[in-house]
Amino acid sequence: MTGIVERLSCSHCNAPLEYNPGEIIVTCRYCGSSNVIETGVAFTLEHSMLVNNFDSESVRNLVKEWMKSGFLKPKDLKKCSKITEINLSYLPFWIVPIEASSHYRGLFERAGPSIEKKSDIQKSYNWVVLGRKASEFPTREFDVPLKGKIPFSISKIGSEARVLNSEVDENEAKDIAKQEVEAHHEFLAKQEVDRIIKIKTTVQIGDAVYIHAPIWFITYEYKGNSYRLVIDASNGEVIKGDIPPIEEFKLF
Ligand SMILES: [Zn+2]
Repeated sequence: MTGIVERLSCSHCNAPLEYNPGEIIVTCRYCGSSNVIETGVAFTLEHSMLVNNFDSESVRNLVKEWMKSGFLKPKDLKKCSKITEINLSYLPFWIVPIEASSHYRGLFERAGPSIEKKSDIQKSYNWVVLGRKASEFPTREFDVPLKGKIPFSISKIGSEARVLNSEVDENEAKDIAKQEVEAHHEFLAKQEVDRIIKIKTTVQIGDAVYIHAPIWFITYEYKGNSYRLVIDASNGEVIKGDIPPIEEFKLF
């Protein structure tokens, strides 16, 4: 960075906007309206949110429930682990509606002589794109519960929660979604044929939805190692949870 700090104020309430380098769509901490940084104008798309339905105590209980359930976990997981970090962030997502149809030709070789096969894949998606560039988030595992979405309101967000701004604008989100859907269809085609000769995917992209979703990030310690858990704070579902290896099954 050059050290030049551009001062921008919220186009709605005039309060100074706080943001970090790389952030493009900035939500005002005072009035909750979003501004596009490059142009300084108000964000014209619909901005939605999901609400957090869990306080940190009930999240702790969810974590304990998760630790107790499922047979792939160590039996003493609940007893022997300790939550070391727990925090709530509202992450920016773009939900991109996509109709995608692929036509492909490929060779089916797994059952003897190779046979040429042609087929189509037609699907529609609400493709989830995270509005942050350097963050790891299991977007493919995250089925955003869109039924619960309401218009964004800063008053519904507690002061303990972080609200992250988007580093990705709508057009970029659509590009990312298109590339990921194309890759996904290639993956699907490869389930049917062993070698793809040609695949062509055409997409129709609708209006993207900009939405802030509350996510609990939890770190727990078990026998000296740290593990992470990501929980959807609107419905309490574990989006992704690291499970310690079961010792009896260890080979080395
Ligand atoms: Zn404002």
